Amino acid sequence: MSPFAGYEDFADCVAKNQDKQNPEAFCAWLQHQTTGKWPTEEAIQKATSPGPERCPICNASLRTPERLRVHMFHAHGRDLPRPREPGETNRLIQAC
Ligand SMILES: [Zn+2]
Repeated sequence: MSPFAGYEDFADCVAKNQDKQNPEAFCAWLQHQTTGKWPTEEAIQKATSPGPERCPICNASLRTPERLRVHMFHAHGRDLPRPREPGETNRLIQAC
């Protein structure tokens, strides 16, 4: 994990920039600007591989409920009503 520009890592940056047209390209550029290094293949894969969480608004896939929360907030300006219990995920998304 290599933090840059206030993000935990590349995947974190991608998760928080889903409003960008190409979050991966943006974050790769940003990481290169701030650290002089391009993200590793592994980091890109981690950031772009589909996760089990789906955004009900734009259908982005996120790897964890926490990332979905962050995505909802940053990409759509919404907060989920409260932290969710494990297993609650699908119900909540269907309810949207
Ligand atoms: Zn979304």
